[in-house]
Amino acid sequence: VLPHRLRGKNGLLTLSVVAVLTGCTLGFTLRGTQLSTQIYFSFPGELLMRMLKMLILPLITSRNMVPSNLVEATFQQYKTDLIPILKVPTKTIQPNFVYVVPDDSDPKGRTVYLELTPPPEVIYKTSPGSSQQMNVLGIVIFSATMGLLLGRMGERGAPLISVCQCINECVMKIINAAVWYFPFGIIFLVAGKILDMQDPSTLGKKLGWYGITVLTGLFVHGLLLLPLFYFILTRKNPFRYIRGLLQAMVIALATSSSSATLPITMKCLLENCHVDRQIARFVLPVGATINMDGTALYEAVAAIFIAQVNDYELDFGQLVTISITATAASIGAAGIPQAGLVTMVIVLTSVGLPPDDITLIVAIDWILDRFRTMINVLGDALAAGIIAHLCRKDFPLSGAGKVNMFDST
Ligand code: ASP
Repeated sequence: VLPHRLRGKNGLLTLSVVAVLTGCTLGFTLRGTQLSTQIYFSFPGELLMRMLKMLILPLITSRNMVPSNLVEATFQQYKTDLIPILKVPTKTIQPNFVYVVPDDSDPKGRTVYLELTPPPEVIYKTSPGSSQQMNVLGIVIFSATMGLLLGRMGERGAPLISVCQCINECVMKIINAAVWYFPFGIIFLVAGKILDMQDPSTLGKKLGWYGITVLTGLFVHGLLLLPLFYFILTRKNPFRYIRGLLQAMVIALATSSSSATLPITMKCLLENCHVDRQIARFVLPVGATINMDGTALYEAVAAIFIAQVNDYELDFGQLVTISITATAASIGAAGIPQAGLVTMVIVLTSVGLPPDDITLIVAIDWILDRFRTMINVLGDALAAGIIAHLCRKDFPLSGAGKVNMFDST
């Protein structure tokens, strides 16, 4: 039984922060002891991760399968505005997945090969069932399409819509109950990671500076730039908005996964920030998959660090290449722990740096991953707030005083 002061929203936040600190203390205290029960030790944290992952699928599908007049309006706009615009360049450029490569070895230039261009990354990421991991973006698109169709079926679609609404209500109830387990799980998630950590004294001074650079960059981006964008575009106090997101940011810090944090980000956005639910349910999963400001920033700094370690001087063009490929690589990274480390190969190879040098930064990547995940989550949530603000003028959303025939979840 919790004391009264710890029962509210702030109580949960306080407990989560205390859990992070307790996890750090426990981890550092137990370091050096031979824990033969490691598997049992990490179990509560693993349970937390599994709980979060379990909730993602029903949450996204049930929310997006409820017809939304935002999706309907976007679809209509696409039909009327975008298709005629697309037809013009398509006629001139005639893009195709097959293109012709002349064979240079044939002096008369008669032999040609047909080559298939690889489909763009975005098609891979958006096609449902396209990857072995949970393809959040694909699921959003599939369920939003279902929602669009169900909305147009009238009476016949109504039973399934009401099933989705019930599922959604239950999922939200499960989340509300599960959050009380989180502080306990966080203690073991954090402590377990510290137990596994390499001895900090063996990490070089240079690596320390690299870590400090990434953290400073994340700090400036998260606490200055993103709030500034939010303020310019909405004219609202960004820090009041960010206060409502603290719970999600603590979970991001503890789990290192923006996808696993998704249910809590959704909860914070709906309950604390009062973002329109139609926007939140669509923007957040998409953001958790492709919008990773923190990862992009870290990948660029890491590539520059690896170049410096190799005494490799980067010119201005290469710095621009690093910025562009780091952004692309962050889009390709999944919202799971240390995914950015893997996609960084793209950034390194783009400027001729050895991909194997990723090993130089592995030792502290787990710490940086936690902080960049916080910024990734923050970026998604602020983007949802901005979009909700901008859309209010254009779309008849389910705001106060507006009657929405569909969306009651
Ligand atoms: N862990 C990050 C996330 O889930 C991705 C990464 O940068 O590794 O957002």
